[in-house]
Amino acid sequence: MNSDESLVVVAIDGPAGSGKSTVARLVADRLELEYLDTGAMYRAVTFAAMNADCDLDDAAAVGAVASALALEMPPSGEVVVNGHDATTAIRGPEVTAAVSTVAAHPDVRAELVGRQREWARERGGGVLEGRDIGSVVFPDAVAKIYLTASEEVRAARRAGEEGATDRDAVAADLARRDALDSQRTADPLRQADDAIEIDTSHLSIDEVVALIEELVGRARGL
Ligand code: C5P
Repeated sequence: MNSDESLVVVAIDGPAGSGKSTVARLVADRLELEYLDTGAMYRAVTFAAMNADCDLDDAAAVGAVASALALEMPPSGEVVVNGHDATTAIRGPEVTAAVSTVAAHPDVRAELVGRQREWARERGGGVLEGRDIGSVVFPDAVAKIYLTASEEVRAARRAGEEGATDRDAVAADLARRDALDSQRTADPLRQADDAIEIDTSHLSIDEVVALIEELVGRARGL
């Protein structure tokens, strides 16, 4: 029997700017589950590899950085990488520009997927947010949600979050990352066959959270 069957995992996937982080955090609160931002883990490996002056195209070297990574992500939201508080740096432009290259290396993915499964097993489940949670990390998740939004809405949200004024530059960066994330060979961004798609373009955060809560309740027979 699959030991993951008893876990209450809610998988929330989708491209950047689809509203995943905000929504996943609120859904976790409502369901009294813990929340894991798996994108922050790929960003943490990127930060550590850059600090180690690693060639980011060198799959073996970046894979070694991932295996050795000491990563702390307490529920309060800090991201501590090899003893350094990297909470702000992992969201900066350098890491954002490089993260999709790092996330494409199969050894990096294998290491982080293993840690994500362990995280959920230690807690009896959780709300995990990323690109491949429903398709790869927890294909048996209780509920699989795939969030989307139009390119304009996604770019506007990201520009707002980053305080950026050049909306076109933000849109171009999102399109570049989407292309790299969807076209890589290892665990690409894709909607799992049984995931429920929610287009958040014209929905409020509260509406999206309520929809997901209802879906999870139904899936659990509550
Ligand atoms: O979610 P966020 O935008 O912070 O993710 C940063 C990058 O991490 C993504 O563009 C993608 O390359 C990678 N990622 C991934 N698989 C996940 C989560 C994020 O490849 N489960």
